[in-house]
Order: sequence, then structure tokens, then C-alpha cells
Amino acid sequence: MLNLNETHNPKLTSWVASANDRKTDFPIQNLPYSIFRRKGQSEAFRAGVAIGDQIVDLKAAHKAGVFPVGLTPTLKTLYKPRLNKFMSLGKDAWSELRLHLSRALREGADKITQLEACLVSQSQVDYKVPARIGDYTDFYTSIHHATNVGKLFRPDNPLLPNYQWVPIGYHGRSSSIRVSGHEFHRPCGQLKAPDADTPILAPCKRLDYELEVGIYIGKGNELGSAIALDNAEDHVFGLGLLNDWSARDIQAWEYQPLGPFLSKSFASTVSPWIVTMEALTPYRDNWSRQESHPQPLPYLDSHDLRNSGAVDMHLEIHIQTAAMRAEGMPSERVALSNFNQSYWSISQMVTHHTVNGCNLKAGDLFGSGTMSGPNADSVGALLEATAGGREPIMLGHGEKRTFLEDGDTVTLKGYCNNDNAPRIGFGEASARVLPAV
Ligand code: MN
Repeated sequence: MLNLNETHNPKLTSWVASANDRKTDFPIQNLPYSIFRRKGQSEAFRAGVAIGDQIVDLKAAHKAGVFPVGLTPTLKTLYKPRLNKFMSLGKDAWSELRLHLSRALREGADKITQLEACLVSQSQVDYKVPARIGDYTDFYTSIHHATNVGKLFRPDNPLLPNYQWVPIGYHGRSSSIRVSGHEFHRPCGQLKAPDADTPILAPCKRLDYELEVGIYIGKGNELGSAIALDNAEDHVFGLGLLNDWSARDIQAWEYQPLGPFLSKSFASTVSPWIVTMEALTPYRDNWSRQESHPQPLPYLDSHDLRNSGAVDMHLEIHIQTAAMRAEGMPSERVALSNFNQSYWSISQMVTHHTVNGCNLKAGDLFGSGTMSGPNADSVGALLEATAGGREPIMLGHGEKRTFLEDGDTVTLKGYCNNDNAPRIGFGEASARVLPAV
């Protein structure tokens, strides 16, 4: 069961003035985590919590005596340059710290002077991938995406028969996951034109983005054990943004029979911030399955799932080309989607992943899969937006794109809001394409 508590109160305001701006991603109701250090310093990376345009340096706040002594074991895990240890503590520890952070950052709090000295401006820091990601599993949970992509290859039979029964996924590569703000070279690989006899080694010509939600595992499970559906979210720390860059031409040649390989492993981009599952409580939605579709097997179905298994999380893709940058033009939004389009819930992904006894570990990352909605302006990859590269999308200032060009910067954004709860955001996951080496 999901319960609201005092940290979700929409009326709360913070003594950090920028947190009360209605447009901020980081009001006092959010309180997401990152790993940061001040720019240009050789100091250690450590954990921080966002508030408005500032970061609470948790190590400094602990040393300044802002929190009760009983929180010391929890706070010491946040001295580390990755969140894994904190993630492994489980939801009671996360929730206790959230409550104390909320109280310390509220208007009228006790130790404002001490905590104010522990704030660092977000504009003055570098971030790091927030967890040591041991394993990365990429799912495929938007039925719109699966159908759109399937149509390109199998017009008569776009959706394979397992799709409506199994949360489809594959094991990805974690070593090339990087935090927002990086650049990467266009990958090279084997390409084979449909009419060619042999493949060639060449730079990818069909470079694409994938708009995904990143799901970070908190407390893991023992090898040989399975996680039941209604306990599944106890094992999830929080959500971030994930761009699962894809080389479609490399993918098309290599993917059968074992799935994507080098077409995905050259780069993935995550947002610095992880928004906790507790912060997302006010934005949960019913999960449903159309009556005409197969209903989930019993291990993937429950009352709680139906009641609140989905997350109403708005997702956006923005592109800024090199020409736009040269003219000082801002990035342009090219798609608007929502995580509530997911055919499978977070809990179903976790439960299915462990039903064979597979052990998840703190800091593991799941990708939701490209989160496309039903409309032309809600597709999460260029492969879909351009019908496989046949119909270019037009950018507002006159450029066209079928796939990405060198110099393009792609930025994912996300936020939640509704009538009863304030807007909370996810920051951004942004990276730029450089020419092939
Ligand atoms: Mn993907």
C-alpha cells in the first residue's frame, strides 16, 4: 500500500527561496539524490539532495549536526562516491532521512544557519553516475513502441505472441553508461545494405535515441529467491531518465538470433538525479490491461498493482542541432510521452526478473524500454518518428532529421504534476554526438 505523509504536503515551502518557484524541478516535496563535487576541485565525490537550484551536501550537513544522532549510520553511507550502500539500506532508512530532510528544509526550521552553510549551487558542480551499476537490464514495455517497430519489420504481424505475456528484456552493458553532460563519438560497426552481398565496417548512419525511464534497484534479493509482486517496490530505490542510444543499422544486421549487442553498448546517458519512489507516491495511477488483451498470469497480477501500479510521469525529448547552437537557438521539443503508457509496471518488471531466482543487487539499473505513446508526437525514438528513416521530421527552423547528425545534442526531461500535488522534476539527461573516430 502507498501512503502519503507529511513530506508530500503540497502546502510545504522551503527557506531555500528557489525551491518555491513553481517551475523548479526540485521543490521540497521532491528531494532526489545525486553524486556530485564542486567543479574544478579535486575533492571527493559525495551524495547530495536537490532543493531548488541548490544541493544539500549531506556529509557536511551531518558534520554540522543538522540531523539527529540516530541517523549517523544512514548518513555515513552518503559520504561514499556512489549511492549503492544507501540504496541497500531499504525503504525505512530512506523514508526516515526524507522526513528529517523535509523538516530541516522547511520554512521555520530549527537549524537554518547551520544547514545553509552546507548548500552548494547546482551550477557549480560536476556529477557522476549516481550508482555503481552492476547489471543493466533493458526492457521493452511500451506496446506502442513494440508495435511501431514491429510494423517496420513485419507489417502483417507487428507484435510477437510473447509480448502480451512476458515483460520482454535483455541484459545490457553497464560500463558505457555515463552521466548527463557528456559527448560521445558516433559508433562504428558492421553495416549491411539490404541489396549488398557482404557487410562493411563503417560509422553508423542511423543513430537514434531512446526515451526511457531508468529504474534503480535498492535492496536486492538472494540468488535463488523470487520477489513477490506486492513486495516488488520495496526493492526499488527510485527513477531517473535514461537515453539508451541505438545504432539502428548495426542493430538490424546483428540482432538475430540473440538480440542487440554492439548497437546499444557504445553509450547510454542517465540523469544525475534519482527521484525516490516515496517522492512519487502522489503521482501513482491505476494500472490496467484492456479486456480484449490477455490478462497477466497470477504472479504478475494483484489488487495493489491494479490500484496504483503505474506512474504518471511526463517525458520529453529535446533536440538542439549544431546550426541551432551556432545561432543561439534553444533546443526544440520533438516528443512528449508518459510513463503511464507502459504495458508492464515497475513491480511486474522486478517480479518477472526474479521469478527464476535471479538475484538483483543495489544499484542495478532497469531501462523501461522506449516509452512511446499512441500519437505521432509521442514516439520515443526516431526510428518510429520517421517510419524507419523514410519520412524525415522537420525541426522548426527548417532543418530535417531522419536519424541524428554529428553535433546534435539530445536532452530528455521528465516531471510529474497533478491537481493535488506540486510539479516535481527529474532534471535532464543530455549528451552530444561527435563525429566517428
Ligand atoms: Mn532500449
